[in-house]
Amino acid sequence: MIRKLKLVLNIVIIIFFSGGNIIAQKNIVAKKDTIIWNDIRFQKYIIHYTDSDAGIFMSLKTYLDQGITTVEKYFGKKFPKSFDVYVYPKRSDMDKAWQKAWGIPGFKSQCWMVASGVADKLDILSPSVWKSEACEHNAEDKTATKDLIAHELVHVYQGQVNPNPDFAGMDDIGWFVEGLAVFVSGQLTKGRIDRAVKAIKMGDYPQELKNAWSGANKYGFSGLLVSYISSKYGKDKITALLDQSTQKGILSVLNVTEKEFLKNWKNWVLKQK
Ligand SMILES: [Zn+2]
Repeated sequence: MIRKLKLVLNIVIIIFFSGGNIIAQKNIVAKKDTIIWNDIRFQKYIIHYTDSDAGIFMSLKTYLDQGITTVEKYFGKKFPKSFDVYVYPKRSDMDKAWQKAWGIPGFKSQCWMVASGVADKLDILSPSVWKSEACEHNAEDKTATKDLIAHELVHVYQGQVNPNPDFAGMDDIGWFVEGLAVFVSGQLTKGRIDRAVKAIKMGDYPQELKNAWSGANKYGFSGLLVSYISSKYGKDKITALLDQSTQKGILSVLNVTEKEFLKNWKNWVLKQK
């Protein structure tokens, strides 16, 4: 097989934004068989997007900046490191990146999966194709889209302060990682709380913590678990849990057994209503 020479274009445009303290850089790198990315560097992140998303670039930047403010305000600290943001023009492109990152050849994401976040990277399927390539998400709902991006930014932040930057092998505490992202981002909406409470009243709630981030009420259950920690143990405990990577570690910081924790949580949730 003849290996063709890869075509590499590299154009660098320096743009100075108002105030002079933010320098954006545009790199266009075109390689055969790869996506042509526009890379714009800001102080805290580099956005990589394709020409098809030039029209929504500014709205994404606004969501990112709002999300960063939400996360830093909640934790009272800045993001320790900068990170990359990739805006994939097609689901198949995002799947390829996830196959590589997660070491799962042939991985195909489900339609509700539109984004992910780890210490050094936030991936998002372009909201401009959610209508045709995603389910359960509406890009025209600005609050939900802003909250979704803030959710991923919580993962980025936690990844930067956790010894396990990509959360590998932390599925058992998915309820905490996801619940924290739901709670801090604003995704723990009244509708989700009401649906979770209704399910709890009918006896349909997780008997083990590892099952909380699954099923139709995963946002409500996991978000309410973290909301309960915040209310019962205080925000400081949430911060203290950020670097935990096991169930045992979390329960030990909270000084409670899993059974007691779930029982107390259930009673607390029902008392709120
Ligand atoms: Zn998440």
